[in-house]
Amino acid sequence: MPDKSYWFYLESFVYAVIKGRDLLLYNSLTGKFLSYMDRPRLVEFLLDLDRKENLYVLKVSREFLRDNGLEGFMGDIKDYFMGDLIDVSLTPKKPFIMPPHLDNREEGGQRPRRIIRNVSGDSLFSINELTFFVTSRCEKNCTACDSAGKQFLWCTGEKESSELDPVSGPMLELTEIKEILDQTKGCPIKTVNIIGGDLTRYPHLNRLVDLLCPSFNVNYYFHFSHLKNGFPDAVTSGCSQSKVTLLVDCSTLALPCDLNHLKHLQPDKIVFLIQRDEEIPILEELIENLKTGNIAVQPYFNGHNLDFFKANVFSDQESLIETILDIGTIKARRSYNTLSYGKMFIRSDKKIYSDLNGKPLGRLGEISMETAVVSELSEHGNWLKVRRDVVPCKDCLLDSICPPLSNLETVSGINNSCNIWNDHRNMK
Ligand code: SF4
Ligand code: SF4
Repeated sequence: MPDKSYWFYLESFVYAVIKGRDLLLYNSLTGKFLSYMDRPRLVEFLLDLDRKENLYVLKVSREFLRDNGLEGFMGDIKDYFMGDLIDVSLTPKKPFIMPPHLDNREEGGQRPRRIIRNVSGDSLFSINELTFFVTSRCEKNCTACDSAGKQFLWCTGEKESSELDPVSGPMLELTEIKEILDQTKGCPIKTVNIIGGDLTRYPHLNRLVDLLCPSFNVNYYFHFSHLKNGFPDAVTSGCSQSKVTLLVDCSTLALPCDLNHLKHLQPDKIVFLIQRDEEIPILEELIENLKTGNIAVQPYFNGHNLDFFKANVFSDQESLIETILDIGTIKARRSYNTLSYGKMFIRSDKKIYSDLNGKPLGRLGEISMETAVVSELSEHGNWLKVRRDVVPCKDCLLDSICPPLSNLETVSGINNSCNIWNDHRNMK
């Protein structure tokens, strides 16, 4: 009796990655994935399945599956709702699947390191967020100053530069900010961030609020230590599109006195900086007592707390599964850094950056914003840093699933910010 034939198919929402003899299948509806190490025959089968003429569907027989050791794989696929076998005698016509074009064929090829083709008059419209460090004036002396601001949005006194006076310090003039807004008119800018130094001491704050309202969603960032007298009136009255964010370093809080003050301030959002395990109970107490929903916790890498990051911050398989990615997001993560793309920073010393850990693109008054974007895309490439370009992530099957590279990786020098990667070959 002839062996029965089946259509084996993968669902169109399944993302497949092949690296050498290893394979990963990701269900973009559930976030669950299957990984197989050192399975050359299975890799060959998947490559065959992914060919243009097969479009994720192959005719197979029980004998073929048995002889190639694929029966267990078929069971996994069914269990993870990634595909199935259909009896050909019941469905003689080959099923049509529109696969997501997984680019396995291009794995051997190189993505251009610089997007030269994009460097044109249109490239200016890549900008989607502007951050102005309007002043570097600050009389405090936080230990996190300088380095926190290179990891996430945090005030920076810029005291490392010998040319700066910590009291008077440089600042951006209103005309300079206006000039940038004029130049970026038409860009899809969703957010403008205003941050210091000590923002309460920025002399043009009232007029800056008037300038930005109501055209932009504006976030004003204030450090808790600067707010003994509350927020400046300019940012709390008037514009509905303005939000105030309070930056609080858990290591410097004096409870319960500071808790009362925090309750009194009522910002739109509070960001708690945390850097060690002992601060977790303090944070829990604060969250319990503040009873406000909009709280963010920002882990800070201080150069000595890698264990804290490994225990509390690094990705693990469970956290990856919790974040379900659609195929479009996965493809985007292969092409550019979805976290940093389009963000421009203008510091109070007039330097323009696409990455605060990188070199400046130029200075206000010397280059235009368009030239800055061209420089970023053609020379610096900060917006294009993706995991598949860096060691060891480029050899890892999860390089398009993991969160994009962030400043944490740059500052710590550790690209595999995960608890998944054991060595250069194996996932746990
Ligand atoms: S308050 Fe902000 S700007 Fe001032 S020293 Fe502390 S971190 Fe730096
Ligand atoms: S090695 Fe890199 S890509 Fe792989 S799981 Fe870790 S962080 Fe993600």
